[in-house]
Amino acid sequence: MTRSISVLGATGSIGASTLDLVRRNRADWRVVALTANCRADALAKLAREFGAEIAVVADETCLDDLRAALAGSGIEAAGGRAALVEAAAREADLTVAAIVGCAGLAPVMAAVERGGTIALANKEALVSAGDVLTAAVERHGATLLPTDSEHNAIFQCLAGNDIADVRSITLTASGGPLRTVADLSAVTPAQAVAHPNWDMGAKISVDSATMMNKGLELIEAFHLFPVGLDRLKIVVHPQSVIHSMVEYRDGSTLAQLGPSDMRVPIASCLAWPERMDTPCAPLDLAAMGELTFFAPDEARFPATRLAREALEAGGAAPAVLNAANEIAVAAFLDGQIAFTRIAAVVEDTLAGGNMPPPPRSLEEVLQVDADVRVWTQELLEKA
Ligand code: NAD
Ligand code: MG
Repeated sequence: MTRSISVLGATGSIGASTLDLVRRNRADWRVVALTANCRADALAKLAREFGAEIAVVADETCLDDLRAALAGSGIEAAGGRAALVEAAAREADLTVAAIVGCAGLAPVMAAVERGGTIALANKEALVSAGDVLTAAVERHGATLLPTDSEHNAIFQCLAGNDIADVRSITLTASGGPLRTVADLSAVTPAQAVAHPNWDMGAKISVDSATMMNKGLELIEAFHLFPVGLDRLKIVVHPQSVIHSMVEYRDGSTLAQLGPSDMRVPIASCLAWPERMDTPCAPLDLAAMGELTFFAPDEARFPATRLAREALEAGGAAPAVLNAANEIAVAAFLDGQIAFTRIAAVVEDTLAGGNMPPPPRSLEEVLQVDADVRVWTQELLEKA
């Protein structure tokens, strides 16, 4: 049976992995919406290849290029944030949320509000709007399929079990490319994005290097799997073979293992609740030799502590953490600040003394996000 799919963030790393699987199973899917920030030519090429109904660029200044690139194709072209939300609200059996950053929140919410099934890679949406988004999922009968590899692993390890029997959930972390680098202050953007195991977009690669990715994932797990923060743990596992684990009260621990290829968790979402083939190389544990584990080093990588503190503080704090981090990472990638300043800027923003009241709606979350971006930018300019 053919199913319909929309891919928000189609030109990114997760978008490409998703469309690779769709391409291999072309007859199973009808493509509704494909979106990008700009990159009109790349988006138009995908829209033509997959016969999409609509292609949307979030950045309206790229719309003319998109229209030109789609001329004669019969594919609708649209631009701007409202068009992005409208496209996400269109009926589709599965919406893959693969936009990076809080920019993906409003489209995710649009898919939630039509009661859709959403393969959620866009962790920042859940970090910023945790309570608001999970309440909306409940209210509209939407389904979130965790696509982040750790959360997808946990989701698989929970299947068929009662969450009340869970003693703990352990998120594995690769530790990023800088785990063993002595002088973190001298790290360049090129070093920080060179992840040893995963090929990902620039922002999440920097988050992996600072360990903020694991901090965001802790908050993501808190909302997806309601076992309470004290049952969520992090262990560094440099080989990224075990993608996460769930320990039950009888002492059994279930883990999901697989190659470091996002097509595995994405395939699990595309086929859910069934299974599908992927071209990913099978695991060869004997060739791998050994798997190792370490406790996280929060003195060198304070981001996981900041995320835990933001979660404990609750209210607007996770949205503040996320927005400050987005600005700090962009400044680092732009050569404006040192690597070690990223976490410091996030900590300073959180401690800045103007914590907004808990946001209660999408609009309020977006307002917090917009305000914090301004404060963090000011903080960067003062330093
Ligand atoms: P990426 O940078 O490769 O792609 C991001 C996509 O979002 C692109 O299509 C881009 O055009 C679009 N985009 C960027 N800014 C936008 C904006 N302001 N408005 C609308 N669209 C915008 O990122 P990625 O690595 O594919 O990651 C996407 C999301 O998935 C992130 O939230 C990331 O944390 C999460 N994730 C990624 C991986 C991975 O392996 N890449 C793994 C787990 C989770
Ligand atoms: Mg992950």
